[in-house]
Amino acid sequence: MRFQIKDEKLIPQRFFTEDSYRITQIPEILQPPLNPDFPYSRELQQILAGKQLLLDDIPHPLDEIQSHYENGYITYRKGIDYIGKKPMCMRCGNKDQQLFAIFHCSRCGENCFYCRRCIMMGRISECTPLIGWNGPAPNITLPQKIMAWNGKLSEGQQVASDKVVEAIWQKKEWLVWAVCGAGKTEVLFAGIETALAAYKRICIATPRTDVVLELTPRLKEAFPEIRVASLYGGSTDRHLYAPLTIATTHQLLRFYQAFDAVILDEVDAFPYTVEESLQHAAIQARKPSSAMIYLTATPNEKWQRECRAGKRSFTTIPARFHRHPLPIPEFAWCGNWQKQLQKGRLPANVLRWIKDRLESGKQALVFFPHIPLMEKALPLLRKLDSRIEAVHAEDPERKEKVQKMRAKEVPLLLTTTILERGVTFPNIDVAVVGAEDLIFTESALVQIAGRAGRNKDYPDGVVTFFHFGKTDEMLKARKQIVTMNREGVKRGLIDI
Ligand SMILES: [Zn+2]
Ligand SMILES: [Zn+2]
Repeated sequence: MRFQIKDEKLIPQRFFTEDSYRITQIPEILQPPLNPDFPYSRELQQILAGKQLLLDDIPHPLDEIQSHYENGYITYRKGIDYIGKKPMCMRCGNKDQQLFAIFHCSRCGENCFYCRRCIMMGRISECTPLIGWNGPAPNITLPQKIMAWNGKLSEGQQVASDKVVEAIWQKKEWLVWAVCGAGKTEVLFAGIETALAAYKRICIATPRTDVVLELTPRLKEAFPEIRVASLYGGSTDRHLYAPLTIATTHQLLRFYQAFDAVILDEVDAFPYTVEESLQHAAIQARKPSSAMIYLTATPNEKWQRECRAGKRSFTTIPARFHRHPLPIPEFAWCGNWQKQLQKGRLPANVLRWIKDRLESGKQALVFFPHIPLMEKALPLLRKLDSRIEAVHAEDPERKEKVQKMRAKEVPLLLTTTILERGVTFPNIDVAVVGAEDLIFTESALVQIAGRAGRNKDYPDGVVTFFHFGKTDEMLKARKQIVTMNREGVKRGLIDI
């Protein structure tokens, strides 16, 4: 799209004209003053409040959008801006030259730079306006009783819950570092309740769609009369304006200064490069004065350092709800297991470990760093028990296999890191074969170890890292677990 500038307003042009510009070229975007008598569309208000959308995202004609702009209700922002001579994507924050490309654009009739990093949310180029809302926010009516949840928090959860409430009121940043199985969702409930009661808009964001799907019914149950928008790729709630939003971090790219509090769950679940754009999205989705709560079991090294140095405000929940310590990983050297697998064998101690579980009937998860090696191991193990299965990210039967494991139809499940987090089986042991592989970072290993001993009836579980040479990541993972247990004992959160 191109714009002409007339009477201090931008006027969209459908075709190339010499006196029109791409939005990126316009030095200052003029914003007409709000006309209080303008009969604005409630539907556009719902769709656009707190958002930054492309024209293609909005199911309304351009004329209607333009009349809202001319009356001050809609804003146009640059999709791409230049910092000096370098382009920056205003939606995802991309400044990396390599992640921009150029194409001959039919919308502006010129060669047009576009951002490759956020292209999955629709193309942002030099002629793309980001469309937002400048009118009043939609009205929210609150029910008499906001929260229906009346469960009890553990002592550790209570401390964190109070901090979350405080951070939301004081519009602060706060990290909740909760061990796997501490019950971090409940820790948010009091904070969400007070925020909603004060007519604040709140968002829980997480990198993974699975988590959005799992959290949505839990939050709807805890806040039954509050409208909840559940956002992920292909979700039908996309245009729903709600006081409580649960979204994948990707979906946050469509928000702009929307939320009084953003709760970012599992920030560490993706590699840093991806994380960077998602963090940008989270920051942009916040109102300029707002709270930000980070929730994780495994903060990255930089954050851990900042916590230790007193540079980051945080609370730990070092113990699980059931007051038993976290299982501490054992290290077991297994020689060149890859070479042995190529020859159709498994290391003797790995085989022994697996046979012990099959004989005693204890279920187990066995992690492998790569699919081909896991697939080499599968037929060998099926000779011991034909019900053994293997899963990985692209496995079309992934859900069914996890379900079968839950139903105890599968005694042993081989897996890649896809099951490192999110899944809970009540009574399992866990092994990693090839724990020295680079894919097994400190955070991945802590998460994997965190699969064991989660249920109060089975609080113990064996965690064994089989390796061909110990790595720093293995040592750091074990240290983190030991430190948390120690802190849990010290604070009286673990029974010994
Ligand atoms: Zn971008
Ligand atoms: Zn263009």
